[in-house]
Amino acid sequence: MTGIDWRTEWVGGWGMASGGRADVFRPTTAEQIADAFTAARADGGAVALRGSGCSYGDASTSTGGRVLDLTAMNRILAFDPHAGIARVEPGVTIRDLWRHSIRFGWWPRVVPGTMAVSCGGAAAMNIHGKNNYAVGPFGDCVRSFALLTPAGGVLRCSREQNADVFHAAISGFGMLGCFTELDLELKRVHSGRLSVRAIVARDLQHNLQILEDMRGEADYLVGWLDLHARGALLGRGVMHRADQFAPGEDPEGLRFFDPVLQDVPDRMFGVVPKGWLWPGMWTAVKLGQVRAVNWAKWKAGAREERGSPYRQSHGAFHFLLDYVPRWHWMTKPGGLIQFQPFVPQAVGERVLRTVVEQCQQAGMVPYLGVLKRHRPDAFLMTHAVDGYSLAMDFAVSTTKRGRQRLWQLLQRLADVVLDAGGRFYYAKDSVLLASSFARVHGDVAVAGFRALKQRLDPAGLLQTDLSRRMGV
Ligand SMILES: Cc1cc2nc3c(=O)[nH]c(=O)nc-3n(C[C@H](O)[C@H](O)[C@H](O)COP(=O)(O)OP(=O)(O)OC[C@H]3O[C@@H](n4cnc5c(N)ncnc54)[C@H](O)[C@@H]3O)c2cc1C
Repeated sequence: MTGIDWRTEWVGGWGMASGGRADVFRPTTAEQIADAFTAARADGGAVALRGSGCSYGDASTSTGGRVLDLTAMNRILAFDPHAGIARVEPGVTIRDLWRHSIRFGWWPRVVPGTMAVSCGGAAAMNIHGKNNYAVGPFGDCVRSFALLTPAGGVLRCSREQNADVFHAAISGFGMLGCFTELDLELKRVHSGRLSVRAIVARDLQHNLQILEDMRGEADYLVGWLDLHARGALLGRGVMHRADQFAPGEDPEGLRFFDPVLQDVPDRMFGVVPKGWLWPGMWTAVKLGQVRAVNWAKWKAGAREERGSPYRQSHGAFHFLLDYVPRWHWMTKPGGLIQFQPFVPQAVGERVLRTVVEQCQQAGMVPYLGVLKRHRPDAFLMTHAVDGYSLAMDFAVSTTKRGRQRLWQLLQRLADVVLDAGGRFYYAKDSVLLASSFARVHGDVAVAGFRALKQRLDPAGLLQTDLSRRMGV
């Protein structure tokens, strides 16, 4: 066993509203992960697994504990350009993956709003894209994986082999073992671009109707909502639909198989480094101009609709949030949290309206709202429903009272969502209480998950701030 070089560092959630100092080790091999497990077990400690640290809250932090940061295990081990199958180490990011595959006409089937996330983190959270309603979550593109468990040994898992572990480790938020290798299926694209259309939605009902009308045919759908709009206008926004091109339909788009043309440009108008934009956004937040910014964005939607459809690279469409590096710094010093209820279709409009209205009444209006359509999946700790999610970003106050008020509001709203049969997603959560764990997943799923945890990690070595908060 090699000595483990733990280094004390600050390890925070991406939203900057939580975190603490922890002893961090960056393994480069599966053997080093096993050694770190052994070393931690020897002194009765716990270990948190961490990918790129893009979860908004405490899913990959362990305040005062130990963290295995897997970003140095970032090799693409194999890629089959005929079948579009990649074998990757867990620290390979979505960006690494598409930069490699797009040259051969393949794109990851499921991508989140930032390309910085690692494949290990994407599988552990079973992330969803803007096409969740059509192709399911990230786990549906995983063929198989190797899982190093604290109980010892590497388990090979697929839909045929150790199928129970396959369906639980994907979605299992790093509680059952560490992915050391994953086999992923990508999708064929016939152009480096998508055909994109903006559709202005009058209100929440209109937004939901567009999702229902288009989900049978659109490749991607995502709605931006102006959550400052009230009354009859509540839930107004701009829906974006994107579709792939058929073979030969966009010959000019073949040029965009060059990864350089997919990447998000680092300068605005070719001049201003985008890294300088966040201070302007910070000023807008501090001067209380978020309402005006939302209104301007809503107005711009009509212009965009008139100019639709237009062609946009896959990278530009999917990773809009990466356009402004460090945009989340605009919420400094308090940081931000996200609240993303998933609600069944039948009660979607009523529940989402209630949630937004109560935020408005409390004077804590999210500065960003993103609406998506989902479908159920086969993973044990799934967050998906046959319905909608509305991701809402809240700037966090620096005062204890302001923080408490926000947490109390969102805990009340979580009850509304859970009472209506909704769910939550740990990559985005900061407020749920341990008493909600069984309500999110149901008693049967929780019992099954705990039994697997007992089998694969009997000493409870794998822990995070999130798992302790949820009483896993
Ligand atoms: C700007 C932004 C936009 C986003 N948009 C979306 C979106 O559209 N859709 C969506 O679904 N999510 C979205 N996310 C959330 C993000 O996709 C998830 O939080 C994802 O899990 C982050 O991956 P990561 O590599 O950063 O993992 P981390 O945040 O570091 O860890 C996530 C979880 O994975 C576990 N883990 C990490 N590596 C391993 C491993 N090798 N083996 C086992 N467990 C492991 C950790 O313990 C933790 O529980 C977004 C996040 C940001 C910051």
